[in-house]
Amino acid sequence: MADYNAIIIGAGPGGYVTAIRCAQLGMKTACVDKWVNPEGQSVLGGTCLNVGCIPSKALLDSSHHYYFLQKQAAEHGIKCEGLNIDIAAMQARKQDVVKTLTQGIVGLFKKNKVATIQGTARLMGNQQIEVTAHDGSKQVVTADNIIIATGSVPTQIPVAPVDNKSIVDSTGALAFDNVPKRLGVIGAGAIGLELGSVWNRLGSQVTILEALPDFLAMADRRIAGAALKEIKKQGLDIHLGASVTAATVTNNEVTISYQDKQGEQKLVVDKLIVAVGRKPYTESLGATEIGISINERGFIQVDEHRQTTVSGIYAIGDAIGGPMLAHKASEEGVMVAERLAGQKSEMSYETVPYVIYTHPEVAFVGKTEEQLKAVGIKYKVGQFPFAASGRAKANGETNGMVRIIADANTDSILGVHIFGTSASELISEAVVAMEFEASAEDLARTIHAHPTLAEAIHEAALAVDKRAIHA
Ligand code: FAD
Ligand code: AMP
Repeated sequence: MADYNAIIIGAGPGGYVTAIRCAQLGMKTACVDKWVNPEGQSVLGGTCLNVGCIPSKALLDSSHHYYFLQKQAAEHGIKCEGLNIDIAAMQARKQDVVKTLTQGIVGLFKKNKVATIQGTARLMGNQQIEVTAHDGSKQVVTADNIIIATGSVPTQIPVAPVDNKSIVDSTGALAFDNVPKRLGVIGAGAIGLELGSVWNRLGSQVTILEALPDFLAMADRRIAGAALKEIKKQGLDIHLGASVTAATVTNNEVTISYQDKQGEQKLVVDKLIVAVGRKPYTESLGATEIGISINERGFIQVDEHRQTTVSGIYAIGDAIGGPMLAHKASEEGVMVAERLAGQKSEMSYETVPYVIYTHPEVAFVGKTEEQLKAVGIKYKVGQFPFAASGRAKANGETNGMVRIIADANTDSILGVHIFGTSASELISEAVVAMEFEASAEDLARTIHAHPTLAEAIHEAALAVDKRAIHA
């Protein structure tokens, strides 16, 4: 008999949620993780809690308060004199948030009777896993089912080698102990924009270099256009079609060479953040040695129910590709756990929401107009600006809009795209509507509390049928 019914490798949002769900369903469960924090302590939570979603949102929130007090408080009749920032205190608060949440997983594991095994897991075949603890000692554990949730790490590019002093990755950029005067960012994806926003709000002169000619290429074009305009207004200098070819450090300065339409350009900054995406992490896992296929981009190959090429071994989250998002990793884990328990769970990739936590935020779910045009689906669009929302006006947050795309024949909602304050919260209504296969008419006939930002979704749904009330 195996030691466990399920062993999960990795305790990020994919792994720890899977472990809890397996245990809830009556499986004897263990979760192995090797993460060690800068203080040398083993911690759960993976990238998301330690150096990803959570610390970035803590700094976004702190920096937004500062920005608000500097730039917007006066219009509310609030005068701030002698305003200054204490980066050490801000970073300490961020670490406290991280500590509370990672400790929270320890509590959840205890409550659900999930065993924690600290160390690095290596697959040995025959459902055996060797775990090497941080002190070098080894143990072998066995499980009926193994779920790999080993996540991802920042992508490195040879033209800008990270030294974690002058040239940093996202982890380094979350830990600056002072505000760089001039900050360069390679990559205008979610991570580059969020970290660029944090330091821009705190006073850095930020330049973002993005190789692609389009801003937020996967987003709705009007939403991306409005976001670009606003973010630039806030002082982020975004260069599109700018491909970095070299970055060299001399005397604590980074000289960046990049190529754009005008030719070879140079930019000198004090710090450079490399935010060019993330790559799957399967190092020292021994996956291929036991017959698990890994594709040319490093992602573990899985079938539609997340089973790898080895029976009884599953993989989820960033390690298998698709949207590299915490909530996608968690839901995949829930599906695997429930299927192991004999349930018929499925996961709907059509309704995975995306958020970019700038201010205002960009959030979307489903298809864009461009995607629908490409496959010849006829659609109609309802759009409503936050400038026409009573609550947005009262909040002083009138930037942006909601766009709802519905099938021209069936009225079924195919996509919802938001640029506006609290878009990350508002998008959930759209996800629920799409999950229940609602029509725009369904949303239009749903009563929304007044005054709320969510009324903009209601109005956009009315606008699909050209009957918005306030625009
Ligand atoms: P991870 O969170 O990467 O966890 C993998 C775990 O596996 C780690 O703890 C690692 O130590 C462990 N591990 C790996 N190999 C082994 C081994 N052999 N043995 C034992 N343990 C092992 N996503 C969002 O949805 N929203 C956001 O706002 C967001 N913001 C982000 C901001 C930043 C700055 C970054 C970097 C990422 C952000 N992400 C965000 C992405 C999100 O963090 C990832 O999608 C998510 O963490 C993936 O979860 P995972 O469980 O697949 O892997
Ligand atoms: P994401 O994968 O969403 O985190 O975004 C990373 C971004 O970095 C992508 O939009 C890439 O186009 C961009 N990128 C990658 N390499 C370079 C480079 N050498 N110069 C500028 N931008 C880059």
